[in-house]
Amino acid sequence: MAVQTINPFNNELIKNFQEMSPELLAVEISIADETFQSWRKTSFGHRAGLLHAVAKLMREQRDQLSGLITLEMGKLIAQSYGEIALSADIIDYYAINGEAFLSDQKLETEFGQAYLKNTPIGVLLGVEPWSFPFYQVARFAAPNIMAGNVVLVKHASNVPQCALAIEKLFLEAGAPQGLYTNLFVGGSRIAEIVANPRIKGVALTGSETAGASIAAAAGKNLKKSVLELGGSDAFIVLEDADIDKAVEWAAVGRMNNTGQCCVASKRIIVLEAVADEFLDKFKAKLTGLKVGDPMDKDTQLGPMSSEGAVIQLVEQVQRSVRAGAKILLGGKLIDRKGAFIEATILGDLKPGMAAYHEELFGPVASFFRVKNEQEAIALANDSPFGLGGSIFTSDIERGKRLAEQMDTGMVFINHPTWTQPDLPFGGTKGSGYGRELSSLGIQEFVNKKLIRISELTDPF
Ligand code: NAP
Repeated sequence: MAVQTINPFNNELIKNFQEMSPELLAVEISIADETFQSWRKTSFGHRAGLLHAVAKLMREQRDQLSGLITLEMGKLIAQSYGEIALSADIIDYYAINGEAFLSDQKLETEFGQAYLKNTPIGVLLGVEPWSFPFYQVARFAAPNIMAGNVVLVKHASNVPQCALAIEKLFLEAGAPQGLYTNLFVGGSRIAEIVANPRIKGVALTGSETAGASIAAAAGKNLKKSVLELGGSDAFIVLEDADIDKAVEWAAVGRMNNTGQCCVASKRIIVLEAVADEFLDKFKAKLTGLKVGDPMDKDTQLGPMSSEGAVIQLVEQVQRSVRAGAKILLGGKLIDRKGAFIEATILGDLKPGMAAYHEELFGPVASFFRVKNEQEAIALANDSPFGLGGSIFTSDIERGKRLAEQMDTGMVFINHPTWTQPDLPFGGTKGSGYGRELSSLGIQEFVNKKLIRISELTDPF
């Protein structure tokens, strides 16, 4: 993919960027490795100081940074502001808590004394998606830099100005060269970077295709990997739920980021007793969203991230319809310049149809009616993905019981799947492995080193 900014609001090419030559890439990896040798010896206090400075600059520059997100991938401007605020919070969160999360852990042993020491492992590669260009990077870079590692970041090719802006924030905050390095390279060069002996681990947030390719490269080279991949979250509405609230949250869960969230509420599963009421209200909620420029704060439905993305989504809708699915709302490209599609609801979905098994990464909800809670859980679990999921009910104990039966990394009761710095984020099955955020996210790329102290008189 060419590294370039194309505004999805009107498909205009704004700026082209040069890919890095193999020579420059080798220099950047070498600088990162040198920087690691000194960064690993810095105190937690020093690392925290740098991260707080990055977060502060991010907040100070929020107007410009939010504008870049909206320009490059079309996010509604208010949501771009939200993303900048959340990213700064994540960076501060690790600055505040990182030392405690990585403190020595005393082990109870039969003989001698023993403890675990968390030590950094080296240069890490992060491969990041365009969907949340600052948030995704924050949740990879902040914990790993706090742990004493250094990072190279290969961002998605369609958000190069966001990629450069993050690197600049670190440099402005006083980071040594090589602590955070932006790489302008295509996806096809990732396997070669992973194979470089100086790279000690790789984290990807992206599609299953990219995940399979990176996991293969990591496996071949015996490197640790963390994969945060796609999802098709079920949003289950039980008959005892507050239907108006459930409809409100379904609309947020499905439409946030113009439907381009890994944890969007993509499959709405409603018990028969309340299905008609829910569907009528859900349709009404999505009908008449104000379409327009994502820079305009009154716009409610902006463009998708690119022309290619919207074409692929329409193709998935059409394939499902040819196989018998019914369009309950929308379904078409909007007749205007830019990557726009109508808010869409699909029904009558059956196994074998695209919309039943594939991830629909845009404002298209799949609607299902089921007879009872067992059917709801069986349908929710009949997916190659296992990222998040939601259950709406007025009976919390019932919600917890059903949540435990869902094959996903996260379940939210009475809320769409969501994110905050202190909650672990990640999935099972085709949604990948490993966790980001919370105390778990900082443990992925550290060496949990055992240190044991023996008395010479100990029996062994
Ligand atoms: P993508 O096409 O997989 O791209 C993600 C990143 O991987 C980009 O930097 C891309 O580079 C790179 N890439 C693509 N193909 C590659 C390959 N074969 N080998 C190595 N790197 C490769 O995904 P996307 O379209 O940007 O993002 C959407 C996907 O990410 C969705 O499936 C979404 O659910 C998932 N996602 C998951 C999470 C989570 O936390 N689980 C969060 C957000 C998004 P180029 O841009 O240069 O192609």
